[in-house]
Formats: sequence, structure tokens, C-alpha cells
Amino acid sequence: MSHCLVTGGAGFIGSHLTELLLADGHEVTVLDNLSTGEQGNLRGVSEHPRFRFLAGSITDPVMMSEAVSGVDAIYHLAAAVGVRLVAEDPVRTIETNIYPTEVLLRLAVQGGQKFFLASTSEVYGKNFKESWAEEDDLHFGATTRPRWAYGCSKAIDEFLALAYSKKYNLNVVIGRFFNVVGPRQVGNYGMVIPRFVDQALAGGPVIVYDDGGQERCFGHVGEVAGIVKDLMDEPSAAGNVFNIGSDQSVSIRELAESVVAKIDPKIAIEYIPYSEAYGDDFEDIRRRVPDVAKLEKTLGRKPVMPLDQILDDIIAAKRADI
Ligand code: UDP
Repeated sequence: MSHCLVTGGAGFIGSHLTELLLADGHEVTVLDNLSTGEQGNLRGVSEHPRFRFLAGSITDPVMMSEAVSGVDAIYHLAAAVGVRLVAEDPVRTIETNIYPTEVLLRLAVQGGQKFFLASTSEVYGKNFKESWAEEDDLHFGATTRPRWAYGCSKAIDEFLALAYSKKYNLNVVIGRFFNVVGPRQVGNYGMVIPRFVDQALAGGPVIVYDDGGQERCFGHVGEVAGIVKDLMDEPSAAGNVFNIGSDQSVSIRELAESVVAKIDPKIAIEYIPYSEAYGDDFEDIRRRVPDVAKLEKTLGRKPVMPLDQILDDIIAAKRADI
């Protein structure tokens, strides 16, 4: 048994990871300021004898020292995420995503903890390749377009983590998440599936941005959290960056049609320009598909749950309000 710290453990991915770590027999401390996470996400574990919740911000170094004390492994998931949130508040994105990661890395060097850094497919930026491998170049857009603040901030985190790993022999694993979805994800910060499901359950319309020809690959959070946990237990993963996600792409138009077909085929699908959703400075990513060969080679698996089953799981959870 080891003692794990999950920053952002009240968030969508963090709460699923917390459950898996507890189920594996570990002790888990969650540090979360509940800015985008919710206490309700942890209701299934809040009374667990090996669970501890610290309400506090990763921007508070004193709180971070307290959180890492006595811990063997750090899963750093707390961050400002979501295209809508990032576009609306780029300062918060930069403050939350850069300095606290460095503080936490320094603490891990002192304490000798293993470190998982949650990164994102956004680091690939506007790369136009068919699918993206870990060594590929990053192509960010202009600094005048706030969307890129997120990818840039996480790319800096990756540089920091790899630098600390090299200089201080810190055991670091970096996971770039590709459109992770599932129960407990909320639509407030932009994520498309909870938005479409909420819109359809409310009677519609379902609002697609642009022509809906943009493509994404959606991976189920249960599979993704299991992969994070297993990568941290796999010695050969140390010092490496991994794409973590499904590699089955779907257009946003097809996604909207699937959601509507499952909830009520009479619901309308409307198409609006990006400017109406995000303002004039917005740039979308047309196609995003990970190359997951490295993950498969290291762990022997990748997220494979079909979108159809993922949507059923999300819709059932929304209907049951869990
Ligand atoms: N999208 C949409 N309607 C929405 C929210 C998102 O059509 O209400 C589109 C968005 O333009 C993007 C895709 O769905 O092309 C995925 O968006 P999300 O914000 O979930 O993730 P990301 O853009 O980070 O992949």
C-alpha cells in the first residue's frame, strides 16, 4: 500500500482515479479548491477510512507542502481546463497551470515521490498530421489568440517535469489526455459531450459549432484513469510522455446525430459560427487523433470502449444524476 496525493481529485478525471487508487488498497489524499471540481464527485469515497480531503489551492505553497507530506506518489491533475474557461480567463490558466507545477516538482524532488503530470493533446496545437506521436513538433497559434494559453502552459509543465526528471532523477510520467469523457464531466467549461447530452435532455436544440466536420476521438474516463494508475506502476514508463486516449475518430456532426438518436430523434441540431460561441479570436482544431503505439507497447492496451457504449454510460449517469 502506498499513500497517493491526487491534486484536482474532486474533478472529473481525478475523482475516477481516486476511486481506483482506493480500490487498489492505497491511501489517498485529495487536494482540491473546488473551483471546477465538485465535492459531490467524491461522495462514493468521502467516508472511506483511507481517504483524506484537503480543501485548498495548488497556488498556495504552504498548502502544497502539507499535502505532499508523508506521500509516496503524486498525481498532478489540478489545472485550469476546458476551451471555454481558457478562452474566458487566460490569466487564471497561466497562473494555475505553470507556477504550481514547478512548486510541486520541487517538493517531489525533496520528498522523493513518483510524479504523474496530467498534460493534454492541446500541446500539439495546430499540427496537421494524420495522427500525433509523442515526439512530434508542437505548432501553437498566435499569442493574441487565448486558446493557445492552455497548450503552451501545459507544454511548459512538460518541459519542467522532464528537466527535473533529468537533473534530479525524479521519477516522472507525463500523460497527454485526448478528449476524455464519461460520467461527472460537466459542460460549463466547453466539453462537447456533456453539452450535447444536457441540451438534448432539455429538449434541444443541440448546438454544433461551425459545420461539424471537425473530428475528435473520445476515450472513456474509467479506461483512462486505469491507464494512468498502471503507467505509474510500470517502471519502464518513467521519464516518458504518453498519449492517452482512444484513436477512433468521429466528426462532431456524427456525434450530435448519435446523441439525438439516443435521446429523441425529433430534437433539432443547429449549426452556429465559432464567433457566436467563443468570440472572434477563436481557432478550433480540425482533427485530433492520437498515435497510441507507445502506450500499447508499454502497457499492452489503449482505451477501446466504443463511442456508442460511452454515450449510453453518460446518458444513464445524467438521468440518474450520479
Ligand atoms: N463543440 C460544439 N458544440 C459545443 C462544444 C464543442 O460543436 O457545445 C465542438 C468544438 O468546436 C470542437 C469539438 O466540439 O470542435 C470538441 O470540443 P471540446 O471543447 O469538447 O474539446 P476540444 O476542442 O478541446 O477537443
